[in-house]
Formats: sequence, C-alpha cells, structure tokens
Amino acid sequence: MSGSLRIVDAAAAAGPHDHVDIVFRDGYCLRLRDPRRFGAVLWTPDDPLHHPLLRNLGPEPLSDALNGRYLYHSARGRRVRIKPFIMDATVVAGVGNIYANEALYCAGIHPQRAAGRVSLARLSRLSKGIKQTLQCAIDAGGTTLRDFVREDGHPGYFRHHLQVYDQEGAHCPRCHGLIQRRVIAQRSSYFCTRCQR
Ligand SMILES: [Zn+2]
Repeated sequence: MSGSLRIVDAAAAAGPHDHVDIVFRDGYCLRLRDPRRFGAVLWTPDDPLHHPLLRNLGPEPLSDALNGRYLYHSARGRRVRIKPFIMDATVVAGVGNIYANEALYCAGIHPQRAAGRVSLARLSRLSKGIKQTLQCAIDAGGTTLRDFVREDGHPGYFRHHLQVYDQEGAHCPRCHGLIQRRVIAQRSSYFCTRCQR
C-alpha cells in the first residue's frame, strides 16, 4: 500500500520507516520503507513457492493460467459475489480493490453478482479485463492515491486512467449514467448500473 521498495545509495541515511536494506556490491541497496507495517520480509532455505504464505495463492493474473475457463471452474457452486471472489488471493493473486473495480467495469459485470452464476463468456471477458487493467496500470507506473511512490520515488499515473474507482457521482465514460458507490464485503465498490449487470 503506502510502503515502497526503492533502489538507493547504500550510504543514504535510513528514515524512521525504513526497515530493511539489501546491500549490493555496487554500493546501492534495495530499501524497504513500510510506514504502516503491512509488509514482511521472510527468509527461507527452501523453495519460496512452498512457503505457507505463498503455496495457496492462485495464479498470477498476467500468466496464461488465469483465463475464463479457470475462473469458470473456480466459481462453480460459489455464492460469493464476483468482486470479493476475484480479490481472493487463493483464486487469483494480487488483484486489489482499485483494479477489481476497474476490471469488472471493463467486463460489464455487476460487482454484486454471485460468482457461480456468471457465464463462461463473461468470465473470459473478466479475465481479459483483469489483465488489461493491470498491464495498463503497470505501464503508467501504478496508482498514486495519497503517498504511493514507485521504486524511483515518483508517483504512479494510473489514477488518470481510472474509469469508475473513486468516481461516485461522475458520469460513466460509456453511457453517461452516474457512477455509484456501495460497500461490498467491507470494500468501496464503484460501478455503473447501466453498463454492469
Ligand atoms: Zn455506463
């Protein structure tokens, strides 16, 4: 969230929220800043993918393992709503709230729809929507809402591409209806009731 991993001069004094330096031979270091202490650095002599914190994760969203068919099979019989479903890291890793909102808008799926009742064709659109949204955000350097900075200390510019997130009361870019906000599974959800069903 508001933490950062940055490449800095290893001689640069650490700030109050800098917790870990990994120092390289060339005099630079990878520095972890974590003001809210949500992060963790763990050492394991074994394959990191077998670590308890990682072994139950779903596929990487930008890999081929995430596709409509995978989402369809994972969602069968599930009554959970589609938005918390795609934010569940055991289903797919790393789709946070901002990107879940944007991907569902992209796919035209209402965030409160039961995951198990979305068709294969629409889940294929959702899978593409997730990939597109994340790739576009990566290209823009991420999303700066308050104090997020990239590894070079600059903000991310994906905020300028957000179509529904944090846009309550604004006009939908597609149909010019009003974007609504509703709390779903404790998270702010933004959507267009005309474009998302
Ligand atoms: Zn709309």
